[in-house]
Amino acid sequence: MRATLYYRGKLASCNYACPYCPFSKRVDDAATLALDQAQLERFIDWVEQQGLAGHQLSIFFNPYGEALTHRWYREGILKLSRMEHVERIAIQTNLSAKMEWTSHLEQGKLSIWATYHPGQIPEHAFLGRCQELLERDIAFSVGTVGVREAFEAIASMRKLLPREVYLWINAYKDRPAYYTAEERSWLSSIDPLFEYNLSDYESRGKYCKAGDEVFYVQGDGKVKRCYKDRQVIGDLYRDGLEGLAAPRLCRMEACDCYIGYIHLPGALPDGLYGSQKLERIAAERAFTLT
Ligand code: SF4
Ligand code: SF4
Repeated sequence: MRATLYYRGKLASCNYACPYCPFSKRVDDAATLALDQAQLERFIDWVEQQGLAGHQLSIFFNPYGEALTHRWYREGILKLSRMEHVERIAIQTNLSAKMEWTSHLEQGKLSIWATYHPGQIPEHAFLGRCQELLERDIAFSVGTVGVREAFEAIASMRKLLPREVYLWINAYKDRPAYYTAEERSWLSSIDPLFEYNLSDYESRGKYCKAGDEVFYVQGDGKVKRCYKDRQVIGDLYRDGLEGLAAPRLCRMEACDCYIGYIHLPGALPDGLYGSQKLERIAAERAFTLT
């Protein structure tokens, strides 16, 4: 079968200090890091074996904190990139780690979901990393959280990033009706898909690919459907994909996060992301559809 696996291990630490984040400057102890490494290596071994079963996999790393500063994630991605049945690998990162390691990648497999945190990295340094990705021919999107304090930095980043790099803005939803109509219009001029992210999608009782073709794997092997539904639907190492996959209806009232609603059929118009939906790279066509 063809499946997408989100993976999040034990790691819960970051080298950045974003004020709104629970992992800000958090440091994992040696035992936690060793466990995270062992869990990741087990996962990668399992992925390797899936080629024999004929599965085609896409893997998305969405760690709590920053993963690319740790050797085992870089090595793990290199290993995955050489597996024929792994179609795509993507990772959420703050782009703070140096990218030399990507020279050893199997080209075309890795995409980067790069989150820009103004205040944590100088603008020119972030742009330098983006330039490096362009030179290395690694597909990536850049994103930020659309809080008012970041508007100036967002405008500047959009101006300085090459046009072909899609910059997305995550709508700030913690406060209802946070944006004025003018702000929404301005944010949409930066990210033409902003309104899709601002929306919540009614989902209860609807079929969703999460739990059928898309799985959220935790470091210890427990599998959930998605970022929101906490129910554990099985164990990756015990049940395998065949044992986990089943058509399921959503149990949540609404789906409000990109990594969820992209798997809810009908939530988005066709053609916004094309084949790079996982890593949130908008298709050229998206800019004419909106
Ligand atoms: S870079 Fe991401 S994980 Fe790190 S502190 Fe900022 S928001 Fe949290
Ligand atoms: S619609 Fe959203 S909340 Fe519901 S199962 Fe799918 S991803 Fe999860």
